Amino acid sequence: MYDVIFAGGGLASCLTAYRLRQQQPGLRLLVVEGAASLGGNHTWSFFPTDLSPAQLDWIDPLILHRWQSYEVRFPALSRRLGTGYRSTNSEFFHMFMMGALGDCVRLDAPIEEVDVTSVGLRGGETLHGRCIIDGRGPMPSRHLMLGFQKFTGQVLQLETEHGLEGPIIMDATVPQNGDYRFLYTLPVGPRELLVEDTRYSNTPDLDFEADFTAIADYVVKQGWSVAAAIKEEQGALPITLGGDIDAFFSDANGIPRIGLRAALFHATTGYSFAEAVRTADFLAESELGNTADVFQLLSDRAKRHWSRQAYWRLLNRMLFIAAVPDQRWFVMQRFYGLHQSLIERFYAGQSTLSDKLRILTGKPPVAVLRALRCLPQSSAAAHTIEVAN
Ligand SMILES: Cc1cc2nc3c(=O)[nH]c(=O)nc-3n(C[C@H](O)[C@H](O)[C@H](O)COP(=O)(O)OP(=O)(O)OC[C@H]3O[C@@H](n4cnc5c(N)ncnc54)[C@H](O)[C@@H]3O)c2cc1C
Repeated sequence: MYDVIFAGGGLASCLTAYRLRQQQPGLRLLVVEGAASLGGNHTWSFFPTDLSPAQLDWIDPLILHRWQSYEVRFPALSRRLGTGYRSTNSEFFHMFMMGALGDCVRLDAPIEEVDVTSVGLRGGETLHGRCIIDGRGPMPSRHLMLGFQKFTGQVLQLETEHGLEGPIIMDATVPQNGDYRFLYTLPVGPRELLVEDTRYSNTPDLDFEADFTAIADYVVKQGWSVAAAIKEEQGALPITLGGDIDAFFSDANGIPRIGLRAALFHATTGYSFAEAVRTADFLAESELGNTADVFQLLSDRAKRHWSRQAYWRLLNRMLFIAAVPDQRWFVMQRFYGLHQSLIERFYAGQSTLSDKLRILTGKPPVAVLRALRCLPQSSAAAHTIEVAN
């Protein structure tokens, strides 16, 4: 009998288990992961300005790369921002978490079903817990209307040093091909780059061959010569346009969810690292009762997060519905011309009222009438039906 069983050993489950172990060491924890390692196959990045100093402190041992600044490039704007950037990856995450939590991790244990007191494994074994938390990653739901930030990435070993000072978070000087498209480059070693071909798109599907060719073309244009491709990753992160959060949680059948499964991500970027850190702190500071108590705690929290993200969902509707796809880059170029601290607050999910007005005022980046039609959430539903057709 465990106090808490985490179904799925990904980012949100492991960060929470790690933090609980630090803050409530008496708890009997179990993390159940279906794969042979924790954390999947990702490179996770975030801005240090997304987190509090105390959070940066406890997360620091997990960080592999730290940069002092980053760049963005658009057709009419190139800018270096003095905001830091941090990254880590799944291999390091797995090693770190196995060191910290190894005695309470079950790997290669695919879960068949989860209920309020137990987790049933595919092999027939049943594990019992006072509190079960479902962190098995994103799950399609008819209650969320989504766009996608999708990408294919490669870690490349170069013949010579690339000379980059920091990441290029968005290089949108590339052909847009009917989406908002940009290249994302992280200098993960003096001769190593992670390069991702990224799109904001209405659909989650990826064309790997086309993306690898596009990465190869981009790398040549930057004057870099590739010695070897070391590894690949891909993803389609959810971008929320609208939805019914109460209905979304009523589908959870009383099982508390965390991470992407609880819609705990930034509505405009699909990024969840910072929110996973905050959720880990929140649970580690709470008194954890049984599954029903924690369901209440976590669904209330996720619903508050959802309400706070209303403005970003509106922006998404403007980006996905009002903006002509090939001209979505113009919205982002305009945004990146704004004050650095406003951009930091945007990514941290802490935009003030004046930030929100500032982002929307000035020369409208999308046709006004089309933009006005996007204000109600029902426009997202209509859009979803249009895309499905
Ligand atoms: C390639 C990629 C890159 C990303 N980069 C960033 C980034 O830079 N910054 C950022 O903030 N966000 C990023 N994200 C988005 C988000 O942070 C990640 O998807 C994050 O891993 C989500 O965390 P999670 O805990 O919700 O789910 P996951 O980390 O996906 O964890 C779910 C876990 O549950 C396991 N599981 C699922 N089903 C079962 C089952 N039946 N039985 C047992 N185990 C099961 C999975 O194997 C997995 O380990 C990225 C996503 C992807 C896909």
